[in-house]
This record gives sequence, C-alpha cells and structure tokens, in this order.
Amino acid sequence: MSVGLAGVALLTGLGLAARHVRSATATPRQRVRVARALMGTEVEVVVWSAAGRASAARAAAEAALDDIARLEGLLSDYRADSEIGRLGRGETVLVSADTRAVLAEARSWSERSGGAFDATRGALYQRWRAARAAGQLPAPGELSALVALGGWDEVREEAGRLRLGRPGMRLDLGGVAKGFAAERASALLLERSFPDHLVDCGGDLAVAGSRDGAPWRLAIPDPRGRGVVATLLVRPGTVATSGDAQRFFEVGGVRYGHIIDPRTGWPARGTASVTALAPEGADALATALYVLGPERGLALLAGLPEAHAIFVAADGAVRLSPGLRRRGAVIEVAR
Ligand code: ADP
Ligand code: MG
Repeated sequence: MSVGLAGVALLTGLGLAARHVRSATATPRQRVRVARALMGTEVEVVVWSAAGRASAARAAAEAALDDIARLEGLLSDYRADSEIGRLGRGETVLVSADTRAVLAEARSWSERSGGAFDATRGALYQRWRAARAAGQLPAPGELSALVALGGWDEVREEAGRLRLGRPGMRLDLGGVAKGFAAERASALLLERSFPDHLVDCGGDLAVAGSRDGAPWRLAIPDPRGRGVVATLLVRPGTVATSGDAQRFFEVGGVRYGHIIDPRTGWPARGTASVTALAPEGADALATALYVLGPERGLALLAGLPEAHAIFVAADGAVRLSPGLRRRGAVIEVAR
C-alpha cells in the first residue's frame, strides 16, 4: 500500500514499517517502480537508472518480482504444496538449494540469538495465529506442549532429503523469508546492471547504490501511529522492522503480537518496534531483537560489528544502538 503524504512516499507492507522519502529535485535519471502482492504483503521494487534504460529497468524489476513469487512457492508455510508445507505434513522432501539456503540462514540466526529467533517452532506460531483469529488466548498447557515441539536437531537429513522428526512439528520462515527474497531480488537487479535500487517486501528491505545520487532515506513510522519516529540515511544493505503495530490482538487490555518468545511460548512484550540495519539478514535480526528486547538485544548487536538497531518502546521512547547517532530528526550510521 502506498500513501502519499506531503511529499513522502510511504513504503509500508502488512506487518511493517519503512518508508522512503522522495527527492524534490528533478534529475536526468529515471525512476521506475513496480509492485505486486506477494508473500502476504505488497512487494515494491524501485530502480533508478539512466534515462533511456527505463524499459529494461522495468523488465528487470518484473523479473525480480517473478523470482520472489517463485521463492514464495517454495517457502510459504501457508501453502500445503510448498517445500516447507510438505515437510510440515510429515513428508520426506528433496528440498531445493534455495530452501536449504533459507534454512541455513534461519538456523544460523537461531544460534547467534541464543534461540530467540527460532523457525522450528511453527506449530507454536500457528497456534497463536489461530488465537489471534479467534480473539482468545490459548491454554497455558497447550503452549508448553508446543514449546517442546521443535528444535534444529529434529530437522533430519537422510540421503539428501529432509524430514521433520516429530509429528505435528512445523517450520515457519515468516521471520526470515521476506528479507531473503528481497536480497535475492536485489542480487538479480545487480546482475542485470541496475546497481541503484530498493526492494521492499512489506518492510523487509534490500537497498543498493543510491537514490539518484543521494543516500536512500527511509522513514520509521511510530508503531502506535504517532507520526514518524525519525528518518534514516541508509547505507547499501538490508533494513527491516519487526513489531506489533499491525498483527496483534487484545485480551483484558493486554496486547498480544505475532512475534513469539519460543522459550516461554508467549508473545514477546515490552517493545513496540525494532528496526534493524545490517549488511545482510536484517529481517531475522529484527525478529530476534524484538524477542530479546533492548537490553539483551544491544548485547547481541555488540557482537555483530556492522549491525545497528532502533528500538521503539510502547510509550514511544527510542533507543539507538551505539553505532547510530541522531542529528535532529535524522538517524545516521556513525562513521
Ligand atoms: P513480519 O512477518 O511482519 O515481517 P517478522 O519478520 O518479525 O515480521 O516475522 C514474524 C513472523 O515470524 C511471525 O508471524 C511468525 O510467522 C514467525 N515468528 C514468530 N515468532 C518467531 C520467532 N521467535 N522466531 C522466528 N520466527 C518467528
Ligand atoms: Mg523478520
């Protein structure tokens, strides 16, 4: 969905959260934008190219969207016939190299985050999806059984095929697949010699080169609708926001979001949104940081040299990781 607002182009998807601000200056270069509904959100590709290459840029952007559609067909846990869906039905599956790559990325973020990010507890996340749809909390006993249903050791490999070790176990790549797809789309655009572009999978972004010669600027909307937290000058790489702004439900005045702490079985609380910036992998990182919260999240970031984050608390308080600095309304990476 794109909403025009006083010269600001909003790039927000279903879950999320980043916008880019359009330059007011006219230039000889050309901007091409294509968008498509994919991965449960609106995916948008913006390419800046020399005037005269606009139709090639459009074709490359459409090809990037086609590739995201293909990845969705492999990775979606909403689709029973995807590779991830088939694993969840108990099948033994010869998975594609792409699915393997996303699983490897997911596993590595599980390890780095001490289990805060965990794509093997899809059964637990599905239970919360159903709870959200019904507006009713699950029973605590149900949750402890689902917390026990997962773990990377249960993703078994036999003769090159994968199988989940426990009946009822499900994988859920919802916290990592959109960012992975954005990075793939960005790589495809680079291969086709369009180095200046942005791919936005509903708030999970891959950003390359510049926006008409200037750094890409993104705006972080306040997760409770109180305007814009800040604008951000971003370096090429990935940016992602995780939060409870859009997918949540309330019971007894308590807000339950869609990001679950896999150790307790309950939705993570305390943070309203986290925007992560990293050379790659910001999608999973943002989800992990959301679960960890600012204290433990900043400790994780201290071990990831080029990763940064902006935490927004429910009351609107903003915390920046040490590598970021705030200059007026603009947040930038400190040199
Ligand atoms: P969005 O999907 O809105 O971009 P995230 O990237 O933060 O948000 O991913 C959240 C989704 O990831 C959830 O909807 C669920 O499918 C899954 N998920 C929930 N909790 C976790 C977790 N602790 N680790 C990994 N994936 C999770
Ligand atoms: Mg994520």
